[in-house]
Amino acid sequence: MQKCKLCLTKNADKKNSHIIPKFMGKRLFESTNPRYGVKIDVNGKSKKIQDSPKEDYIFCSDCEERFAKLEHYFSLKLKSIHNYSNEKDKFKIHTIQKNTILECFKVPFNAIKLFNYSLVWRASISNRHEFSNFKLPKLNEEILRTFLNSNLTLSHKKLTETLKNIQDETNFDSYFFKCIVKNEYSRGIFTAYEFSKHSFGLFLVDIIIFLYIDKSKIPNEFQIISNTQKNNALIAMADIPNWKKLNSGPLKSISNVIN
Ligand SMILES: [Zn+2]
Repeated sequence: MQKCKLCLTKNADKKNSHIIPKFMGKRLFESTNPRYGVKIDVNGKSKKIQDSPKEDYIFCSDCEERFAKLEHYFSLKLKSIHNYSNEKDKFKIHTIQKNTILECFKVPFNAIKLFNYSLVWRASISNRHEFSNFKLPKLNEEILRTFLNSNLTLSHKKLTETLKNIQDETNFDSYFFKCIVKNEYSRGIFTAYEFSKHSFGLFLVDIIIFLYIDKSKIPNEFQIISNTQKNNALIAMADIPNWKKLNSGPLKSISNVIN
């Protein structure tokens, strides 16, 4: 049996490991049109995705459980984030130049970072066709693996402690975007997209995660977020026209969108 891709020590005995967390799967495929995601191929080919991508025998049971602990923690945070307008004591909205930034008092920046990295890394190491054009350079994949392996924990208590003390030596930066509202007009696309050899985007219907592996290539409008980032998570919120524009980025590269 192959070794687990995260710890590299135990046997990868787990079946059905989710590449994108299960709790996000429902929204990816629910209601409205289309009912499926689209795998976007830079060569202009597209393929339907009808279920949240899963893969067998890539992780051991312990590492699967470590991802599950983070996802459970983050699923509750994300629910609160989407409900920010009703939980005013937990959030503050900042306008920085043209950007609307949601500061989350109850979500540590490290939680967003760990979540972002865990998704990007899993998409990158996945052998599933949905992620065949989404590959970090091997060296960077290994940096993320080491980061995740040191910071993912088997217990909720340990996770909350770890989140207070994470040292990030990856030299990467990641950003978490959402639409300012969450409704039928804010449904984005579902795809993993490599913008360039140093920038990656995971488009997950309600959120977009951007990862930069070279800080010098981060665009100015994203730098503004990094420069104001302290301990609380900052989430960039786009209005509906800008959200649609962000989501159209990967679609521009295909001539043939399925309908
Ligand atoms: Zn493992």
